[in-house]
Amino acid sequence: MVKQEPPVEKNDVIELTFEDITHDGDGVGKVNGYPLFVPYALPGEKAKVKVIKVKKNFGIGKLIEVEEVSQERVEPPCDVYVQCGGCQLQHMSYQLQLDLKQKQVVNALKKFGHIEGIPVHPTIGMDDPWRYRNKVQIPVAYRHGELITGFYRKRSHEIIEGMDRCVITAEINDRMVEAVRRMANRLGIRAYDERSHRGVLRHIMVRTGQETGETMIVLITRTEEIPGKDELVKELHETYPQIKSIVQNVNKEKTNVILGKKTKVLWGEEYIYDNIGDITFAISAKSFYQVNPPQTKKLYDKALEYANLAGGETVIDAYCGIGTISLFLAKKAKKVYGVEIVPEAIADAKKNAELNKIDNTEFFVGEAEKVMPWWTAQGLKPDVIVVDPPRKGCDETLLEAMIKMNPKRIVYVSCNPSTLARDLRFLEDGGYETKQVQPVDMFPQTGHVECISQLVLKND
Ligand code: SAH
Repeated sequence: MVKQEPPVEKNDVIELTFEDITHDGDGVGKVNGYPLFVPYALPGEKAKVKVIKVKKNFGIGKLIEVEEVSQERVEPPCDVYVQCGGCQLQHMSYQLQLDLKQKQVVNALKKFGHIEGIPVHPTIGMDDPWRYRNKVQIPVAYRHGELITGFYRKRSHEIIEGMDRCVITAEINDRMVEAVRRMANRLGIRAYDERSHRGVLRHIMVRTGQETGETMIVLITRTEEIPGKDELVKELHETYPQIKSIVQNVNKEKTNVILGKKTKVLWGEEYIYDNIGDITFAISAKSFYQVNPPQTKKLYDKALEYANLAGGETVIDAYCGIGTISLFLAKKAKKVYGVEIVPEAIADAKKNAELNKIDNTEFFVGEAEKVMPWWTAQGLKPDVIVVDPPRKGCDETLLEAMIKMNPKRIVYVSCNPSTLARDLRFLEDGGYETKQVQPVDMFPQTGHVECISQLVLKND
């Protein structure tokens, strides 16, 4: 075979027309069939591009000048969009983002699941796709004799200076970070320094319930002691009445993991509360809680629709976290069993069931792939199974256990279309049929795609 050389060389400046886009938002253009990936270029655009990397099967380019501008191009509202890298899609219209996510799901189903021709609905978006995140965790550092906060520059641990807003974070959280930073500076509280592993304040975390407006401030520190703590706490809650809880989390380790083991309440409550639909959640510093509740509500309404419950069903919710989906389904089912690997999450799930006076749920700590076969052996016969696994998807043992349990319907919630497609193939081979898939935009402006699929037993 004749080995074909790439048609471009490093540092070439070329004209490129873009025909496609990756899910990370990179434009794709081809030179004699050889693809070049160029960040911030959009389909339909023509641009001058500098080749910065040449690999055997693809190259990477840098946008120098856009000569024909796409109608979908918009000015990113964030000042540090390119440095930060937390968002990938701010330079395109929201409609294009939604279309892109739908297309990504269609492509993944085909490529990794050989599933084609089923309805993949248009992505459900937000009316206002900005300022939606209810939680921020921001690193702290020392610079020019001052304590500063800001996200890290892409692929680094260097804080972007002068960054005082994040356009996908709730405004109130930005203001709270700013307040803590200002007060900490005045009180001389030392920032943590990663290199020397010295100093006090590592991260500031703020979470605000979107419906209740209750705010929790978490000060993540290397040390047990925070000199100036009493003044800081007093000033914070006296100035900002929406603060209901101020918590310290101690993380003494040399690590990238943000939260440490120990938390103590410095002032106010241990929990703040928020609602998704008509369910109330108690959220502590370490609880997992969805960052975008209005979209979560839309996702779970779909889960309910796809589960198609009449009231007499037994349901399993695998990878249930703090029981969010379980509690939603419990109102329409006879009984819901939840399983989850993190003990604290199960404790929260039980607490939330009680808080909402829901008494037809049972929650278990364990690996779903071990607990499900055990349930099967016990004779548990679910009518519907819901799964919501992490990015790597479901374990094969779990998929096998699901097939063995023979439920009428399976609802699969996924944050990774590739592993979803792989698992749907497995379930299809086991006797199920994928009826429909619905992408939901939980994280506007970013490349993340969430979707929910409905499967039914073929010969039912
Ligand atoms: N359904 C929940 C959370 C889904 S996130 C919600 O909507 O809020 C995925 C969850 O799977 C996480 O809580 C994670 O802790 C859990 N998990 C990961 N591996 C697991 C396993 N092997 N068995 C059970 N749960 C697992």
